[in-house]
Amino acid sequence: MKLRLHNSLTRRVEDFVPLDPQRVTMYVCGPTVYNYVHIGNARPYVVFGLLARLLRRLYPKLVYARNITDVDDKINTAAAAAGVPIATITDRYAADFRADMAKLGVDAPDVEPHATAHIPQIIAMIERLIAGGHAYAAEGHALFDVASFADYGKLSGRSTDEMIAGARVEVAPYKKNPADFVLWKPSTPDLPGWDSPWGRGRPGWHIECSAMSEAHLGETIDIHAGGNDLLFPHHENEVAQSTCAHSGRIFARYWLHNGMLSLEGRKMSKSLGNTYKLHELLEQYPVELLRYMLMKAHYRQPLDWSAAALEQARRTLDGLYTTLRDLADVPANPAGDLPEEFLAALCDDLNTPEALAVLSRLADATRKAADPQAQAEAKSALLGAGAFLGLLQVDPEAWFRGATTSFAPQALQVAFSLVGAELRELEGDELINGLVEERQQAKLRKDFKKADELRAALANLGIVVEDTPQGPRWKRASAAPVAA
Ligand code: AMP
Ligand code: ZN
Repeated sequence: MKLRLHNSLTRRVEDFVPLDPQRVTMYVCGPTVYNYVHIGNARPYVVFGLLARLLRRLYPKLVYARNITDVDDKINTAAAAAGVPIATITDRYAADFRADMAKLGVDAPDVEPHATAHIPQIIAMIERLIAGGHAYAAEGHALFDVASFADYGKLSGRSTDEMIAGARVEVAPYKKNPADFVLWKPSTPDLPGWDSPWGRGRPGWHIECSAMSEAHLGETIDIHAGGNDLLFPHHENEVAQSTCAHSGRIFARYWLHNGMLSLEGRKMSKSLGNTYKLHELLEQYPVELLRYMLMKAHYRQPLDWSAAALEQARRTLDGLYTTLRDLADVPANPAGDLPEEFLAALCDDLNTPEALAVLSRLADATRKAADPQAQAEAKSALLGAGAFLGLLQVDPEAWFRGATTSFAPQALQVAFSLVGAELRELEGDELINGLVEERQQAKLRKDFKKADELRAALANLGIVVEDTPQGPRWKRASAAPVAA
């Protein structure tokens, strides 16, 4: 199936034709590790991680690199504030990042280069740029000479004036041109630094990605991706550095950019104090709900995170899981071929909203199938497509019970006042099962007052009990907890 991708370079959706189908290369700008990542940061890793999964199906020899930026002034500030070396900060948050990505069901990249492990490659690239007349040394710095690259501004589509205004470039006496940007800067003795031809210092952010991409993927790569906030200056500068360091050969052939995630209609920003940390959300919500939220909008569109959107997403997933619960006895083999229309949606510039719509249609088809074989096939297709997106992986009964349990203490007290000591020893699902059973026993001995009290106590704990011909069933009230 033909994969089509929107290329920021041409501003069009194009057929994806790799340079070498035997070695397809993709680089995604990774996090700067000085703090926990927020849910906005998770968006590029989820959507481009999904793209990597899709690419791997089409081109098994994909090499996917996602770096770790572990030298940066924000890291220096965090380390100085804590009174520790930068590695203490970067090791900790890089490990947390990896753990959170694994929890979120994001596949690990093939290579995870760290900037600090590539200082010799960075220095060598800067030396090549200087030798080629594209960079110059001044006062302990090395700077890229923007005027030396005629295509500067082509990726972001900006004029030089706009770029200067947009980047709020620092006018420094050692710069030939205010738009020239730093490749290397001097470090005072208290700051991390490495010896270089320009004195002890540290690399600028943009050169790190150019050097790591070259080191692991080669001079010309197929895909480069990141959030659209990186388009300028970061990606524009990467293009300038890599193209000039490689005698004008094209750097990345397809540039992909995800839209920004906002919170209840407002830009997410640390200064506004409205960010949700990924690790906190992972504790509060089922992983699949978070993944669904990050995939329900097309990756290039803005995405607003809100209580209402979470509720909507929860309802959609509940609907899919209801089908799976009702048809629990239908045999299924999710390892079969992925449905054509599902793959077609993903191959259409990673159209995840359409891929999710296909899941709903498959659930419908499963319900309405005319014979057992058709039903088994539809259910297999539903589970297979779900697995590809990292959805519908939970046992349906467990989904409705919810993965996390944190009951309000007062609600627990009320429930405990109605039952014997042995139930008070229980926790989580076992406790709920015990309370539901206690209510059932009360009903059977026609103690309806007690049964009603227990139903109310369960409701207080956020549990809805349903009486079915097969006996009582329970689930968490569908309203997901809303993060404060
Ligand atoms: P950073 O660590 O700030 O370089 O960000 C890591 C990745 O998250 C980059 O690809 C950014 O473009 C992306 N990113 C940052 N903020 C948001 C946001 N609010 N929505 C979507 N992506 C974001
Ligand atoms: Zn980068």
